Amino acid sequence: MEQPDMRLMEPARLVLNPTTTPLLPAPQLSQALGGPQIWIKRDDLIPFGCGGNKIRGLELIVADALKAGADTLVTGAGVLSNHVRATAAAAAFCGLGMTAVYWGDPPRQTRGNHLLSVLWGAQTRFTGSSDRNSVDGMLEVEAADIRAAGGRPYVIPRGGACALGVIGHVQAVGEVMAQCRQAGIRPDYVVMAVGSGGTLAGWLLGSRLLGASWRVEGITVSRPAAEARVRVKDLADQAADHLGLGRAVPADDVIIHDGFIGAGYGIASPAGMSALERAARCEGVVLDPVYTGKAMAGYGALVGAGRYGEAATVLFLHSGGLPSLFVDGTA
Ligand SMILES: *Cc1c(COP(=O)(O)O)cnc(C)c1O
Repeated sequence: MEQPDMRLMEPARLVLNPTTTPLLPAPQLSQALGGPQIWIKRDDLIPFGCGGNKIRGLELIVADALKAGADTLVTGAGVLSNHVRATAAAAAFCGLGMTAVYWGDPPRQTRGNHLLSVLWGAQTRFTGSSDRNSVDGMLEVEAADIRAAGGRPYVIPRGGACALGVIGHVQAVGEVMAQCRQAGIRPDYVVMAVGSGGTLAGWLLGSRLLGASWRVEGITVSRPAAEARVRVKDLADQAADHLGLGRAVPADDVIIHDGFIGAGYGIASPAGMSALERAARCEGVVLDPVYTGKAMAGYGALVGAGRYGEAATVLFLHSGGLPSLFVDGTA
């Protein structure tokens, strides 16, 4: 049995998710796709802040902010970001202020994750530029303003992609491995959506460090796969450095599939929506149009192309995102 490296447990953790999320078989969906037996890790059911993978990273990031004596969290992304929504919930939970920086202009209506972020008390700012990178500079401007007013801001990078966020997912791997042992399954692959790349980086690093026998693969929903691979490798290295563990993830282990972004990040795709519908009808599981629906579309297409032919069991990470389903078209 694998012995967890105690250094992995070292960064302080603020418990936002006190549960072990379910790992459930999806027999009808497996049959419909005609491939390996699919098991779904239900991180969408994390019972805090409407759930999702971002909570795992925030447990470490917000603990660090509290240790640093911060009184306000500052982060950003697109207006319908799950990351910003989860951060706003964490800020409210801890009694911290929250500033959300979004690229673009304010939408006519406050919906989905934006609505939730405002509900949890986030102050919102818009960069006025459709360039996603415009968020990064404005995070620093907002932090400087807060400092000038006597506050103590803590800036979380766009999407929560940073070493501490990655380590939150390393810890998730330990959780899943214990569940697999208990369920008596040995997944050959783990498949997940890739956005900013922190989640895949953490799963790759955790799987290496804890000796998991599966291969972890991502399906990009945001950047071209080549660009995503570089980011994931870099994030895994940053997290390994933070843990003092050396470079654990070889570049060749970072497998990311292209071809399922559709018209663009945050824009629902026909393939993603039909994968979402199939999962809903086969299993009663609700995926999301921005991340997990597209990842499931990718997985289904890869099964159809014979990629997982030798595998008996595949673990699909349901990383959340439900609020985007209630917003038409883009997210
Ligand atoms: C952010 C997000 C992802 C992707 O995670 P990254 O760490 O950004 O790659 C996947 N699914 C959902 C629902 C997300 O919100």
